[in-house]
Amino acid sequence: MTSQHLELPPIEVTPKDLSAYRTGNRGVDYVHTFDSGRPGPHVIVNGLTHGNEFCGMIAVTHLFEHNIRPRRGKLTLAFANVDAYHNFDPAKPFDSRYVERDFNRVWDTDTLEGPDATVDVKRARALRHIYAEADGLLDLHSTSYAVPSMLIYEPHAKLDPLARHLHSPLHHVILPGVKHPGRPLIQYGAFGKADASPLAVVVECGQHFARSSGEIAISVTMRFLDFYGLIPTDLAAQYKAEAGAPKRYEVTDVMVAKTDRFRFAGDFIGFEELPAGALIATDGDEELRAPAEGCTLVMPARRIVKGRDVVSLARRLS
Ligand SMILES: [Zn+2]
Repeated sequence: MTSQHLELPPIEVTPKDLSAYRTGNRGVDYVHTFDSGRPGPHVIVNGLTHGNEFCGMIAVTHLFEHNIRPRRGKLTLAFANVDAYHNFDPAKPFDSRYVERDFNRVWDTDTLEGPDATVDVKRARALRHIYAEADGLLDLHSTSYAVPSMLIYEPHAKLDPLARHLHSPLHHVILPGVKHPGRPLIQYGAFGKADASPLAVVVECGQHFARSSGEIAISVTMRFLDFYGLIPTDLAAQYKAEAGAPKRYEVTDVMVAKTDRFRFAGDFIGFEELPAGALIATDGDEELRAPAEGCTLVMPARRIVKGRDVVSLARRLS
């Protein structure tokens, strides 16, 4: 494993004590479902899919602290990989993304129903039946580097009204099919099926430990709840989308480190647009180059782990 850019970012947000939220009402720790008693969609707001991505924790605790309850349907608030979150060490803030295995790369049946005994996969097994209830899932994340926030979703027509309603983040990253080494949560089960109605999106809210990332997470969460009619419109009106037209990108490839000698060719942080043939990285003796003009790097990893994804390559759509 190697790290690039060794200087650490400022840690503006530190973990809150979540012990008050441990015992929920679903028989699964750190999961609470509020039922309005009226018909309507079941909406899940999910934080801490990655243990060191605090913006989701900020948004979910905001909903608890402000007693946000659904006007219709159900609202579930979930803290996902809490074991990883509890391992946070400010001296090594990038090491608590997961405990043993990335919780966001395990959402295929073979892994969920296979022999994997990592704490992360066990947690996924405990949560899967709850995620499977969702009509809408908002999965809140943040990025290693300080880059613009982004909305990530699959290119299914069913997601267009939600993406239009959220509007911002103004960088939209379209993810066609499973390209990562392991299926992400937003592609789990019905979420990933074009002809099934449940919707799931990721919002990358900014840098992991930035205060502004939590503010973006709260704002987009309120617009997500408003899309489903779960909160009063006057409350939703306080969280307006950013002005401007979204920039849309489509992921073409996800690069995976094949060796322990993967090195980026520059200090990439994300959204660099490269000319065709530009050197992106070397991996052992192999040179990895931009496959096309305008190849855009999305979320280069700070910690490089052999066998895991290290950066997505995208092309600009609009
Ligand atoms: Zn993440």
